[in-house]
Amino acid sequence: MAAGPWCWGTPAALALPVLLLLLLGGARRLRRGRAGARGGARGGGRALVLTAHPDDEAMFFAPALLGLRSAGAAPAVLCCSAGNYYNQGEIRKKELEQSCCVLGIPASDVTVIDHRWSRSCCGVHLRRCSIQRTDTVTTSFAVFPNPVFLFFASNSLEATGDQRSEILQNTGTCRTAPGSRDLPDDPAVEWDTQLLATLVLEHIEAKNINLVVTFDAGGVSGHANHISLYNAVRYLHSEGKLPEGCRVLVLESVNLCRKYISFLDVFISCLLPGDALFILTEEETEQAKRAMRCHRSQLLWFRRLYLRFSRYLVLNSLRLL
Ligand SMILES: [Zn+2]
Repeated sequence: MAAGPWCWGTPAALALPVLLLLLLGGARRLRRGRAGARGGARGGGRALVLTAHPDDEAMFFAPALLGLRSAGAAPAVLCCSAGNYYNQGEIRKKELEQSCCVLGIPASDVTVIDHRWSRSCCGVHLRRCSIQRTDTVTTSFAVFPNPVFLFFASNSLEATGDQRSEILQNTGTCRTAPGSRDLPDDPAVEWDTQLLATLVLEHIEAKNINLVVTFDAGGVSGHANHISLYNAVRYLHSEGKLPEGCRVLVLESVNLCRKYISFLDVFISCLLPGDALFILTEEETEQAKRAMRCHRSQLLWFRRLYLRFSRYLVLNSLRLL
């Protein structure tokens, strides 16, 4: 029988009492968090997890997605590229859909932005944006045990808006050839903050979002596309462009050592200050791993190591902007 992350022999056994004490303290705060979530549900609104690539939702945000769903925040996912770096965009969109389904998020709440230049005219470049909703649910939901989490932002079940839209914007500059993607999946490309902010804000308003969850300034892995999401949301926040009451939680980037000590980082994260902490049970951790395995096109050897050791498949610690 393969050893799970909670079954690493004597050191883990010795650490268990300490973990239980920490979790008991967390459970008290959990009750307060749930009360806040229920209170928010009456006011309308819901959570949005903003990602850059298909697989980010499972690799990095699974604890937050499961915790938010358990809190009744009905999280939606907005993925800002199709993950086309190796021309696998269509495959990866399907994998995203399957992964979200394992995490309990219906296809109607999963949106992929595939932004392209359409044409240029008289020196004014027109951008065309196709926002596509994934269409089908291909697997059934797993049973959801309650995660242990700390969460206080207000959320609720509510609302869908237009699932498809087109935006034409006048811009004065052209950084990309017409027809090519303007939000490319590329670790060397920083996405245009203004463009991204416009697309994200439209989605926030259409979906009646009052909590946005995304990467922090470190982007967890340092990927330029991840950091671009933070820059866009920070811009919306600092400029006061977000709808009233809409809050932003950013996923904490940690050093390499903490990143790959799996559940052991629970001890550290519980002791450090933060605004929200989602910790999965062993069963839910397996659920997160099943979601990540849906991204079959990405399961190279180092991703399999990631599955085994990453803290982000066990917990998410977040801070408010
Ligand atoms: Zn990514």
